[in-house]
Amino acid sequence: MNRRHFLGSTLSAAVAAGMPGTALANASSSIVGRSGNGDEVTLEKSVLKELKSALRGQLLLSGNDGYDDARRVLNRSIDKYPALIVRPSGAADVATAVTFAKERNLLVAVKCGGHSFSGKSTCDGGLQIDLSMMRGARVDRNSQRAHVSGGSLLGDLDHESMAQGLVTTAGTVSHTGVGGLTLGGGFGRLARNYGLSLDNIKSVDIVTADGVLRRASADENPDLFWGVRGGGGNFGVVTSFEFGLHEMDRTVIGGDIVFSPDRAKQIMRDYADYTQEAPDELSMDLILAAPANGEPGALVIHAVYSGQHANADKFIAPLEKFGTPIANTIGPVDYVALQKSYDNSDPRHGGDYLKSGFVTEISDAQINSIVDGFEAHPDRSTMFFYGQSGGAINRVAENATAFPNRDAINTPTVVVSWNAGADPEPHVRYIRSYWETIEKFTDGFYTNTGDFETQASLNSNYRGNLDRLVKLKDQYDPSNLFRLNANVRPSAG
Ligand SMILES: Cc1cc2nc3c(=O)[nH]c(=O)nc-3n(C[C@H](O)[C@H](O)[C@H](O)COP(=O)(O)OP(=O)(O)OC[C@H]3O[C@@H](n4cnc5c(N)ncnc54)[C@H](O)[C@@H]3O)c2cc1C
Repeated sequence: MNRRHFLGSTLSAAVAAGMPGTALANASSSIVGRSGNGDEVTLEKSVLKELKSALRGQLLLSGNDGYDDARRVLNRSIDKYPALIVRPSGAADVATAVTFAKERNLLVAVKCGGHSFSGKSTCDGGLQIDLSMMRGARVDRNSQRAHVSGGSLLGDLDHESMAQGLVTTAGTVSHTGVGGLTLGGGFGRLARNYGLSLDNIKSVDIVTADGVLRRASADENPDLFWGVRGGGGNFGVVTSFEFGLHEMDRTVIGGDIVFSPDRAKQIMRDYADYTQEAPDELSMDLILAAPANGEPGALVIHAVYSGQHANADKFIAPLEKFGTPIANTIGPVDYVALQKSYDNSDPRHGGDYLKSGFVTEISDAQINSIVDGFEAHPDRSTMFFYGQSGGAINRVAENATAFPNRDAINTPTVVVSWNAGADPEPHVRYIRSYWETIEKFTDGFYTNTGDFETQASLNSNYRGNLDRLVKLKDQYDPSNLFRLNANVRPSAG
């Protein structure tokens, strides 16, 4: 019997559907979980009852309503089974869950939007803290601040802040979690103008590994404040974010200019040149999409101009001259609607595998590798993506926050998707070999999308910030309770 089935059957036999009311009372034995080191941890029925009674939120075991929704993440190829899931109602429940896990040395996964490509927000045998009951944003127009609960999605933030004529940088898909995106970086359509999402954080409330709720800001626990801005989930569970907001017209000028992929190399060269001179208010991503499901391939420039409308034509016109567009949807658009335009109607769709890195220049050799190695995967889709960086992101010093990759001008990403049930192996193999031809042009990677194949590459990616991060980890999480992330290893191992 394999381990997963063993765990599953133990769970369902012993305490299946244990938490609502009598089911737990009827349970006859303990359940078996897993520590951070992979050792078995036995959880007696009595301690589960104690945990349940200490929570205002939910405790879910295999078989409970909501267990499968909670354990799953966006990437369907990840299929893990936590021993128990806590859905906190607020910071007090988060502290209870963290303390419970810490006292038993349980593996911990923290889930906000569930968009971690490599599935870091779920786990086999551990305790998952699913923040989905902790959503909401409150905007104070006068102070231009947003207070955002730790389980919120980007759409929650955009919806509330734009309603007040205010905005901050958020990613391009509205069902991505504020938690994971912000703590690791936060690129988006406004980032060249206002910096990364993490550059806009004014303070966080965070439950650290000792179960204590702390506030971190420039004035309070400033070292921790430095570390959470780029250190991902390494230091604890953020229960609330305070963001600085900016005034912005709700209508921006944006859309897609679609070209035939036949002249991909030339268009990419033009794109590379123009991204060097365009103003911060213009954000330009380039997508090369292979034919899939009978649809033709395309090269798309997704452009958004968030400055004065009167200047938009002047800055967008050069893009339209890269070739003869097949389609062009550039025009006035509601920013919040645009922020949802990449959403999937069914986000729990299929499997994905991606590789990405940062570049400090886009050379002809780089473009040749990208175009020559690009291949269609008719099962679903292959995409190459140039995500523009630069602007305000580059003007922050490398050591001002824990996020180090300030010199990047772009983030090339290759991604293949397949329908649920298809064999991932040929797709994954292709992306790995394709990426080998591109990786040599990159310098570091985005921890929010990397799958960190070695600790050494992760350490070197933190650059000169690593030592300070390790000191913080030693102080706030010396036993590495929070390890399912772009992990900073404490000195003790
Ligand atoms: C469809 C899609 C679109 C994306 N678009 C963008 C984009 O436009 N810009 C961009 O920068 N990135 C983008 N990303 C990458 C994204 O930043 C990461 O996948 C990020 O981890 C997602 O955050 P999440 O909360 O949804 O993830 P989750 O899987 O829920 O969490 C990922 C990790 O974040 C940590 N974490 C989450 N919440 C908390 C919290 N409250 N406290 C402590 N730790 C926490 C945990 O370590 C967790 O393992 C995209 C990803 C996808 C799948």
